[in-house]
Amino acid sequence: MDIARVGVVGAGQMGTGIAEVCALAGCDVYLLDVSRERLDGALAAITESINHLAARRRISEGDGRKALARLSTGLDYEGFRDCQLVIEAATEDEQIKKEVLRKLCEVLPADAIITTNTSSISITRLAAQTDRPGRFLGTHFMNPVPKMELVELIRGITSDEETFRVVHEFALKLGKTPISAEDFPAFVVHRILMPMINEAVYTLYEGVGSVESIDTAMRLGTHHPMGPLELADFIGLDTCLGIMHSLHEGLADPKYRPCPLLVKYVEAGWLGRKAGRGFYDYSSEKPVPTR
Ligand code: NAD
Repeated sequence: MDIARVGVVGAGQMGTGIAEVCALAGCDVYLLDVSRERLDGALAAITESINHLAARRRISEGDGRKALARLSTGLDYEGFRDCQLVIEAATEDEQIKKEVLRKLCEVLPADAIITTNTSSISITRLAAQTDRPGRFLGTHFMNPVPKMELVELIRGITSDEETFRVVHEFALKLGKTPISAEDFPAFVVHRILMPMINEAVYTLYEGVGSVESIDTAMRLGTHHPMGPLELADFIGLDTCLGIMHSLHEGLADPKYRPCPLLVKYVEAGWLGRKAGRGFYDYSSEKPVPTR
């Protein structure tokens, strides 16, 4: 099956990026949200991003215009009726996702594939909410979607091989590099990244190093482009804590215990860049370490 008609649920940060890359890859895209404002915001962001690509000659103006013409938005599930693949990227809340999946199954053709962009909910459990657990897969895109090359493809226990093959092919068509992951908490990238960030916070908490020394050590000592605390601020400390909780609970191993200092920062509302303060203070031009 060559995927040419795609649906995306959720016009947030991720859904917007996913809709953009699908339209640029030549697919007709229908993007749905519960909020008209979110949809308008998504269209404006995609238009700006595509214009930027054209201005930098990464795509031609004509291809940019064609991609925008392939994109439609709406609040109504009828728009999914002829989709071959729908990517669910709504808010990370299991009840919301279950409701979305129920509504999708009512309108989608029987052979359409559904994937979810969830970061932390079991793919197998979500698949079981649908009438097509074999044609269900996790597609975990990275943020920002248009820039990041990777997509993790996650099989639930019921996903069939043909579905994996079709979605793998589709990921290549989007210009992404797919890797395969099993359905365990945090998949591959966050399973490795978040304990490293958590350990950086322990290193700070135990006084082994300051914010500046920890980030400098990892940038210059391991050639990471960003230090782990800087990166945690960029991702959002609430998101980091949420992923540590799902690793801790899902794998029941004390090595994933969230650092108490990370918990305190989140309780204080020091959530990183988006809050103006995390491990750095962002109120002046140059971020200032807070410890
Ligand atoms: P977001 O909060 O930016 O956007 C979520 C969107 O879903 C909002 O526009 C909201 O209006 C919409 N929505 C809520 N309920 C809905 C419903 N019933 N039907 C349709 N739309 C609904 O969130 P996001 O960061 O784009 O994350 C979306 C998904 O992607 C989540 O599952 C998240 O775990 C996952 N994810 C996020 C990141 C990231 O870095 N932000 C990375 C990888 C995966």
